[in-house]
Amino acid sequence: MPNVKVANVSKFFGNIKALENINLEVDDGEYVVLLGPSGCGKTTLLKIIAGMWEPTAGKVYIDGSDVTDLPPEDRNIGFVFQNYALFPHLNVFDNTIYGPVVRGKDSEESRRNAREMLHLVRLAARHDAFPVELSGGMQQRLAVARALTTGSSLLFLDEPLSALDAKIGAELRSEMRKMIKDLKLTAIHVTHNQEEAMEVADKIVVMRRGRVEQVGSPEQIYRNPANLFVAHFLGDANFIEAAAVDHGTRCKLKMLNWEMDIPKVKPGAYVAVVRPEKVEVGDGGAEGVVKNFRFLGGVSYVEVGIRDESVISRFPSGREYELGERVRICFKPEDVKLFKYPDEGLKEALRVD
Ligand code: ATP
Repeated sequence: MPNVKVANVSKFFGNIKALENINLEVDDGEYVVLLGPSGCGKTTLLKIIAGMWEPTAGKVYIDGSDVTDLPPEDRNIGFVFQNYALFPHLNVFDNTIYGPVVRGKDSEESRRNAREMLHLVRLAARHDAFPVELSGGMQQRLAVARALTTGSSLLFLDEPLSALDAKIGAELRSEMRKMIKDLKLTAIHVTHNQEEAMEVADKIVVMRRGRVEQVGSPEQIYRNPANLFVAHFLGDANFIEAAAVDHGTRCKLKMLNWEMDIPKVKPGAYVAVVRPEKVEVGDGGAEGVVKNFRFLGGVSYVEVGIRDESVISRFPSGREYELGERVRICFKPEDVKLFKYPDEGLKEALRVD
């Protein structure tokens, strides 16, 4: 199975820095998602690894070989695009074998290979159906089968679910991951959808403005975001302005209309990041007023206004809250991630663009 390494890759379009010194390793059989807001450079990075664009600087390695100067057709990569690019006038089998046919390789071997691929993606019985007769999930499996007739076990997926209805897309995510894992492929998948990334990835690469902000498993990134932007982009979070002041061998963290004893940090201005499921509505802590309450089935959330800030708590449904009700919220010191208050201001640090 293939592995991929990107070393010090930069890409400029005129004076636009699309990518700045990117380093990335994708292991054999790993499912990696490039995640970030629109324009952060995800597609550019994928196209450079695929050989469709040349990097301005840096190298790309596949299976340990330097492929930086190799054309795309010699890199042996299968592609699944947003709209799957299936040919409506070709049936399932002819769609699958399209690549070898246009390359003049319509041999018995490639036909056998195409049949095997259709078998692997559970479409053998539908080999003579046309794309319009297939469900969204079947079309997606067909796109994967076609991508694999290149003989590659390296698969690139560029926003493969974004053309689908949100509910269907969400249903297909786990099916797609399972298929890719069953086929033991190495996958690089581009998306701006954080839920999709969390659900399919072994490893997420969070990007912003042409740089990699953090690389890690979904859980590592959610629990231990490297900075404010990552905390904001992956999952919901409260960002609470706080001040740390010395208090003997410990510190006091003053925030909202409340203070909390924490281990020693450098005194100064901070942003306390707390996930909504870690905020309890109860007896102690900061006092505020319910500004919003929503019942969402198994979970509910309540937004509590405290001074000019808001704190959101998400909890298993049970208790309901009235607008205007006075409540107290609290959280534990171990559930707070502290970041130095950013020089550029909190709003700018969180900006998604
Ligand atoms: P999206 O999710 O919207 O597809 P992305 O993260 O994939 O975004 P890229 O398409 O990689 O982002 O673009 C990164 C930056 O490079 C953007 O500022 C974009 O405008 C610029 N860019 C991309 N392709 C070109 C091009 N062919 N010519 C000039 N600038 C480009």
